[in-house]
Amino acid sequence: MVRTVTPPFSKLLVANRGEIAVRVIRACRELGIRTVAVYSQADEDSPHVALADEAVPLGPPEPEASYLDVGKLVDAARRTGAEAVHPGYGFLAESAEFARACEEAGLVFVGPPSEVIASLGDKDRARRLAERLGIPTVPGHPAADDDTLERAACALGFPVLLKAAAGGGGRGMRAVYNPSEFREALASARREVRASFGDDAVLLEKYLDRPRHVEVQVVADRYGDVVHLGERECSVQRRYQKVVEESPSPAVDPHLRSQLADAAVRLVQAAGYVNAGTVEFLLDRGGRFYFLEVNTRLQVEHPVTELVTGVDLVHLQLWVAAGRRLPLRQEEVSWRGHAVEARVYAEDPERDFSPSPGPVLLLREPHLPGVRVDSGVRQGQHVPVHYDPILAKVVAWAPDRPTAVARLAQALQEYVLLGPRTNLDFLLDVVTHPAFVSGVLSTRFLEEEFAAWQPPPPPPEAVAVAAALLARRPPERSAVAAIPPADPWERLSGSRFP
Ligand code: ADP
Ligand code: ADP
Ligand code: MG
Repeated sequence: MVRTVTPPFSKLLVANRGEIAVRVIRACRELGIRTVAVYSQADEDSPHVALADEAVPLGPPEPEASYLDVGKLVDAARRTGAEAVHPGYGFLAESAEFARACEEAGLVFVGPPSEVIASLGDKDRARRLAERLGIPTVPGHPAADDDTLERAACALGFPVLLKAAAGGGGRGMRAVYNPSEFREALASARREVRASFGDDAVLLEKYLDRPRHVEVQVVADRYGDVVHLGERECSVQRRYQKVVEESPSPAVDPHLRSQLADAAVRLVQAAGYVNAGTVEFLLDRGGRFYFLEVNTRLQVEHPVTELVTGVDLVHLQLWVAAGRRLPLRQEEVSWRGHAVEARVYAEDPERDFSPSPGPVLLLREPHLPGVRVDSGVRQGQHVPVHYDPILAKVVAWAPDRPTAVARLAQALQEYVLLGPRTNLDFLLDVVTHPAFVSGVLSTRFLEEEFAAWQPPPPPPEAVAVAAALLARRPPERSAVAAIPPADPWERLSGSRFP
C-alpha cells in the first residue's frame, strides 16, 4: 500500500528498546531506511541492537540516564546523521519536550508536533476540547486543590475516580467509594503521580460502573486529511493496564462505530493532529460513550488493527512524518475478520505479578497459521529489571472471533519461555474463560473473575530442563521432548541449547 519509490527518510533513530524497537526497525528496513538503535548497558544483548544498522550506547541502565535522556538521544541522532526519530511507546513517546528538542535540532519527530502533544497530553485540556466539540465526556472536575476536589466529589456523588492530569499507564489512578476515604486516597494519588510525572496535578471523574474501554485508531497527514482505522476493545485490564485487546469490539455495532469514528476524527482534526494517534472512550452499560483521552503515539495494541485492515501503521507513520499525503482515503479502508492480542510479560503471578527479570534459558515462540508474534526477546538474553517487563505480543487473526480466540489460545499453549516467570498461564486462562469467549466484558472483568487466580504448578519437564540449563548441563532428551515443539527445525535437530 505504501510504495517505496523513494524511502521517506535515509536514516532513522529508534529512541526505544524491546519489542517496539524491533517492530519499528523492521518497518524501516522494509522501506529502505537505515536504522540507528540506542541501548543502555542493560540492553547490550537485546535483539533491537543486533537488528539495527548502527547502535549507539547510552550508558547506565537507569531510564533517566538512558532512554529518557533527551540530550543523549538528540546527540546520538545528530552524530549518526539520522534525519528522523521514532519514539515507540512509553519512555519519551508522549513528551512534548522531546518532540520539541528534535524539532529544534532539525530532526523529524515521528509523531505529532510538540504543541499538539502538549495540548492533548493534558487530560483536562483534551477534555475541554472534546466538550467544545459536543463530544460526550465523563462528568468530572479538572485538576484543583484538595478542598475544591473534595467538594466536587461530593457534588458528583461517589464512587469517583482520581487520576493524573499528565497521566499514563494507570499510575495515580484511585477509585474512591465514600467521602471518608477521599482525603487519604487523594494524598496517596498525589504522591504516586509526583513520583511518576514530577507534577502532582490530579483530576476527578465519576467512576463508571463496569464500562468497556473502546478506542479508535486515527492517522492524519500534514494537509488536514484524517482516516480512521476502526476500533479496538481493550476492556481486559489489570490495575488500569491493558492485557488483552481485540478488533473489532464485540460491543460495537455499525451505528456506534460511525459515531465513535466521527467523534475521534473531529477531535484530532480540531487539534491540528498529524501522524498516528488513538482516541480512547469508555462505553457504559447503556451503550453510551464518553471521551477518555488521546494517546499521541503508536499504541502497544496497534497490531490488531493492522491485521483486520491490512494497513501497516508504522509505514503510515513514517510516510506522513516525511510530509507525504496519506496514501489511502477513508473509502479505501476495509475490515476483514477478527484479531486478538495478548501481552506477554516477564512477571511472576505468584508474587502479585511483580517483574521477573533474569536470563532466558529456553525460548520457543509459536509458529501457527494466522498468528503474529511481535517479540523483543531472544534465547540467552538477560531480561533487565529496569524497564517495563513486556517481552512480546501474540496476535491471532481469523475470519471470525471464536476462531481468532481459539487460535490465540493455541499459540499461548505452544509458547515456551524458561527462565523469567511469565504471565503465559494467566493469559491462557483469560482467553479461555467463558465470559471472554462470549465477548461479555468490562474493565473489571479480571478483578471480578481472576482475583483468586493461582498459577498451575509448572510441568515437571519444564522444571527439569530449566534446572539443567541453569547448571549448564544438557537437559534430558525425554524432558525436552515433552515440551511442546514450536519450531519444526528445533524438533528435527533435537536438543540444541546455548
Ligand atoms: P497502551 O497500552 O494503550 O499503548 P499504556 O498506557 O499501557 O498504553 O502505555 C504503554 C506503555 O507505556 C506501557 O508500557 C506503560 O507502562 C508505558 N507508559 C505509559 N505512560 C507512561 C508515562 N507517562 N511514563 C512512562 N511510561 C509510560
Ligand atoms: P491512562 O492515561 O492511565 O491510560 P485513562 O484515563 O486512559 O488513563 O484510563 C485508563 C483506564 O482506567 C480505562 O481504560 C478504564 O479502565 C479506567 N477508567 C478511566 N476513567 C474511568 C472512569 N471515569 N470510570 C471508570 N473507569 C475509568
Ligand atoms: Mg489511557
